[in-house]
Amino acid sequence: MQRVIIHYHEIALKGHNRPMFVRQLLRNIEGVLRSTACSLVRSAEGRVVVHVPDAQVWPIVRERLGYTFGIANFSLAWKSDRRVESLAATALGALAGRRATSFAVRVKRADKSYPLTSPEIARRVGKIVQDRLGWKVDLEHPEVEVLIEVLAREAFVSVERQRGLGGLPVGVSGTVVALLSGGIDSPVAAWRMMGRGCRVEFIHFSGAPYQDRRSLEKAQELTQVLTRYQLHSRLHAVAFGEIQRHIVTAVARPYRVVLYRRMMLRIAAEVARRVGGRALVTGESLGQVASQTLENLAAIEEAVDIMVLRPLIAMDKNEIRAQAERIGTYEISIRPDQDCCQLFVPPQPATRMSAAEARQVEEPLDVQALVGRALEAMETFEYCFP
Ligand code: ATP
Ligand code: MG
Repeated sequence: MQRVIIHYHEIALKGHNRPMFVRQLLRNIEGVLRSTACSLVRSAEGRVVVHVPDAQVWPIVRERLGYTFGIANFSLAWKSDRRVESLAATALGALAGRRATSFAVRVKRADKSYPLTSPEIARRVGKIVQDRLGWKVDLEHPEVEVLIEVLAREAFVSVERQRGLGGLPVGVSGTVVALLSGGIDSPVAAWRMMGRGCRVEFIHFSGAPYQDRRSLEKAQELTQVLTRYQLHSRLHAVAFGEIQRHIVTAVARPYRVVLYRRMMLRIAAEVARRVGGRALVTGESLGQVASQTLENLAAIEEAVDIMVLRPLIAMDKNEIRAQAERIGTYEISIRPDQDCCQLFVPPQPATRMSAAEARQVEEPLDVQALVGRALEAMETFEYCFP
């Protein structure tokens, strides 16, 4: 039977929180590998070990572990006893059928009382492999790397190491509520918060009943893709058109976008209160569009008491787009839709609105009643992965 050896990321640095982080990572790995017949996910001497009953499931295991935050790297491995001859025999078994001309053996000893040093183990195993296969040792640019990990009672040998996503395991930092439009930015913002250990609840505002369902359908598909990274998600869908109609009748055109956003935040803040969310998350990026100035951002967040996080605030569009492609959301985000923020707004919105002005132009609106009605009609969708 083979194993997958998983090395954690920043968890290693987290001092007394470490046991809690490792427990969460184990739970997340167990969850993501559900239905692959892999078993016994356990934490051994600073690593997670997964039993793989059948090498055929490796491609799917590799893909799924690639979605799991908190993993630095992982590899398919063979278990061995700790004698040098056994390590070499296991390495030769793992290399069977491979074609190469050069290799390197890299060794890590978790058990420092082992009688040989790491370079000594590498040299001895390397010698046996070289004699048998005729490949030359190249420590700088080997075609194949043989990785050996010596633990207290056992050792693991692997020949293929995958990079993990890094970050912190989802769930260690609490829950946040992300405002998910159909655009490119907000899914990236939500994903980055997952990478800091947050479980993300999503909320989407559509222009219903004055606009069609396309933006909601995009938000649903985006949530589905993002669920790979946290295994379970909820998307709260709010029909926002009625609120927009009220804003339009009360407020001059240039101010509308800021007022829309203030209402969105208020509704999202109430959802956060209900689900135990500690912060809201948006995809805003400073100066990206005319409405995203420091003045407007301040006027928008003044509407709520809860913290508003903007993980993309200092990123440029190219970086954000590249990240969206890696996450798998870009192709969905660029599909045309009807964005409710474009409803009844001018091409030139106000760029420097103060919170005082916002409160003043909001005066004629019955904010509480509007928020209450939107929440009553809110629909919630659930997603699971796998
Ligand atoms: P995105 O690509 O995320 O839409 P954007 O640059 O187009 O970002 P805006 O559309 O101005 O920016 O919106 C800024 C942020 O406000 C979004 O990133 C998102 O967090 C939130 N937001 C805007 N519209 C909606 C919506 N219809 N539903 C939910 N959140 C929204
Ligand atoms: Mg947008």
